[in-house]
Amino acid sequence: MAKKSKKKPASAKSKTAKAAKSAKAAKPARAAGTDPKRVAAILAELDEAYPNATCELKHNNAFQLLISTILSAQCTDVRVNQVAETLYEKYPDAKAFAYATPSQLEQDIRPTGFFRNKTKSVMGASKAILEKFDGQVPRTMEEILTLPGVARKTGNVVLGTAYGIPSGVVVDTHVLRLSNRLDLSRNDDPKKVEQDLMKIIPQEKWIQFSHQLIWHGRRVCYARKPKCIECNMESLCYAKDKTV
Ligand code: SF4
Repeated sequence: MAKKSKKKPASAKSKTAKAAKSAKAAKPARAAGTDPKRVAAILAELDEAYPNATCELKHNNAFQLLISTILSAQCTDVRVNQVAETLYEKYPDAKAFAYATPSQLEQDIRPTGFFRNKTKSVMGASKAILEKFDGQVPRTMEEILTLPGVARKTGNVVLGTAYGIPSGVVVDTHVLRLSNRLDLSRNDDPKKVEQDLMKIIPQEKWIQFSHQLIWHGRRVCYARKPKCIECNMESLCYAKDKTV
């Protein structure tokens, strides 16, 4: 009679290690679509389609852009612009926000959603700007990241748009989606996507490139049913969810 082999059940640890190994094998660190010629062709098409792409949050200075960018989390730029119309008349500078009555400010920014947390961030950032930066929005990523409620995305928006400093690439929901569809990054963590993009996009294009991808995401390459038939990058794109 043949002896039954006593095969040990795989431990949870070894299963996890195997799964991680196969996921790694299926997901190369660098996307295949990052060939410099292909990237240059994508940049050229974006320049042609959106030569004047810019930030769609209305603002008169770096401070207003910072506040509007904080308010734009989980909210549309259109809604933020509506709120901003009266907000910056009522609160004209960092001092006015820093010493606002929290319950009143909450009501003033309520339409942008998450208004309690946003009030804390707006007031905290305003106080820090007054106390640590002499009333000016700082000009380095290191310093701007010390402000409450400010992460790399907001830092890149403000430094790039208000000061023209290419500190990185803004990775919002559109840049994330389009970078994956255009195979410029195979990561899904915004921080890693930004690192991927910074390696393949020339630094002098970082600011404009993120505006252009955001515009393309808002006008053509929708999350659901992208309008691929109208896309000038269609011949360069092999996204699985293309609609043509
Ligand atoms: S072809 Fe379609 S999926 Fe690809 S970038 Fe253009 S709109 Fe987006």
